[in-house]
Amino acid sequence: MQRAAAHSWEAPSAKRSHSWEAPSAKRSHTWEGRQADPGDDDEWGSFSGGSGSEPEDEDEPGQQLVDKVLRLHLLNKISAEDCCTTLHLAVEAGVSQAKRYALGPGSSSGHYSRKLTKALALGDSRELYEFEYPGHSKHELSRTVHKAVCIPFHEQISADMEEDVGCRVQLADLVRERVLPPVYWQHKVVRAATDGERVLPVALYLDGVPYSQNDSVIGWWAVNLITGRRYLWGLLRKSKACRCGCRFWDSVFIFLQVAVWSLQALAEGCFPAVGHDGSPLQGHRAGLAGSRLACKAACIYVKGDWSEFCGTLGLPTWQDGIRPCYLCAAHGEDQFVVAGNREEALRWPMNTEEDYRNCCQRCLRRVRVKSVADRDAISRKLRYDKRQNGNRGRCMTDGLDAFGLFAGDRLEPTARLPDVAGFDSATPPFWVDFWRTSEESATRRPNPLFLADVGISVAENVASDSLHAVYLGVMRVWARVAVWTCLLSGVFGGVGTAEENVATGILAFRSMLMSWYKTRHKERPGERLTRLADFNAKLIGTASSQVLKSKGAETYGLMKFLLHLYGRFQGRLGDTWQRLLKAGLALERVVTIWQEHDWIIPPARRQEALDEYGKHVALMQPFDVYTPKHHIVFHLVQASRWLGNPAKYSTWKDEALNKVLKSACRHACAARFDTVVLLRMRELLRDMRD
Ligand SMILES: [Zn+2]
Ligand SMILES: [Zn+2]
Repeated sequence: MQRAAAHSWEAPSAKRSHSWEAPSAKRSHTWEGRQADPGDDDEWGSFSGGSGSEPEDEDEPGQQLVDKVLRLHLLNKISAEDCCTTLHLAVEAGVSQAKRYALGPGSSSGHYSRKLTKALALGDSRELYEFEYPGHSKHELSRTVHKAVCIPFHEQISADMEEDVGCRVQLADLVRERVLPPVYWQHKVVRAATDGERVLPVALYLDGVPYSQNDSVIGWWAVNLITGRRYLWGLLRKSKACRCGCRFWDSVFIFLQVAVWSLQALAEGCFPAVGHDGSPLQGHRAGLAGSRLACKAACIYVKGDWSEFCGTLGLPTWQDGIRPCYLCAAHGEDQFVVAGNREEALRWPMNTEEDYRNCCQRCLRRVRVKSVADRDAISRKLRYDKRQNGNRGRCMTDGLDAFGLFAGDRLEPTARLPDVAGFDSATPPFWVDFWRTSEESATRRPNPLFLADVGISVAENVASDSLHAVYLGVMRVWARVAVWTCLLSGVFGGVGTAEENVATGILAFRSMLMSWYKTRHKERPGERLTRLADFNAKLIGTASSQVLKSKGAETYGLMKFLLHLYGRFQGRLGDTWQRLLKAGLALERVVTIWQEHDWIIPPARRQEALDEYGKHVALMQPFDVYTPKHHIVFHLVQASRWLGNPAKYSTWKDEALNKVLKSACRHACAARFDTVVLLRMRELLRDMRD
């Protein structure tokens, strides 16, 4: 399987000079070194690698073959039967490492999959943590409660850190050399650490991935920012998420609670004493309560495509009438004004953590339900508001003066009442929270991630992603304008009808692009420039409906080519050629500055990046092509002062792993979906590092 490497221009090609850059100890798979189950009923059981067997080098071709075949199975590319019988042949060919998974032809299909489930520990429930969340069921008309599992990320990170000497050494070096950005040093967990206590920087990432015709899944991830290793810890299928009008929030809220639970454990450096909801722990976790984790960790980034996750995190999206930007108070045309933006601060009043908390305080009404009579009085007025522009969830149809409640006030899930449907049967006295949407500003929901005091705030840790905002955003807009300006300029001939000229232009453009790729590769053989497979009308649309459907990395290569083309054709491209060339060069410079630095970008270069980006936006003004991303990138560029180099929290690798997740989801049986996919992904992710 292809390793999801970071792109050369995103991760600065570090000169490998540090001692810690020596390859770290490679973690073996859970399936390696697993002892034969005493009750193993297969013919190879007695040969399986017990403690007496010789240690085998996992990099041997035999082990590589086994890993590859198992990966193909985990990615659903081959069946359990094909996997077992192939490895059976491998054993016959002398590959001893295949014994544990080998089964000859002629068995029942169930036997093959049981064999692999056991050998790969895919049925192992010890790592899984069970919890419940309110959601939707197609078999029931109203809401229901789903059982879910996750692999808590504090446990995954701790287990890895225990084994990974390389990462510990690397972290110590980065701390000593002060390589990490201010967001790390100012994080409450880092500030509270004692001398010599190392705090690992981590990130949270979430993204939706469509995996079938009619369903998609939100993957909940944690990232070790030193090694780049990803941990998929939870899955929320859209088909199961709550549809009471809350737009998934009732389900998402529980996942956020589980995330906060793990973050608290990592902040304290100890296994939790109770479950995510305060309930007693079960099984081996009860025994671990309070014992030390391998390290403390500080979550410094919540990263992802902002337009995707804003909804999930309860932040206003760009369609929001009051607050189109979740980071500042800009709105309307003012969002794109360049003047007054400095490296120290942008021209717009920024939202602060206090604004967020104030907004929550303004919107929340805490109500004490003293008696069954109180409860029933409120209950009678509650309805699920599913209207498009309604109040989104279980809301009051009328006001109730006795409780200070207005019509439209929404019952909010809380730690005390995690399922709003549970209100009707809760035993008084109890407290509940209502949310008044008319008072909203900085947020649309009280998000436990930002309110739980684990050192995460929207203002300081929500990190916009350069892949979506720049490469798939402003850079692609520029490239679209530049491509079409070129095609409509007549530079490729203008004797036919307009339509014929465009068709000829596309062919000429394509041929020049392909030969430029070749020349460029000859000149810079080391450069990994992602090429467009083709250049045609499907990619760029028509003159009346101009689009550009290039992927992020392809857009970067296309920009490079367009800059070359504009430098060459100049005035033959019409009146706007200088403007477009300058705008493209400015954007290229911004990206180059990110490429040339590690975590920290020096102040002069940060100012330069902001100036260049401002120049780009100003030059693009006459084309009337601004998108919300043109505004967000101002934040992205300026935030490097606090968050560090945007290349460190871009989502190139995460997007690549979404494809792996998609494969792992396919054909997973509905009843054990979360378990199967999480355990498959745990194995698939084991070897992937930056
Ligand atoms: Zn709901
Ligand atoms: Zn803004």
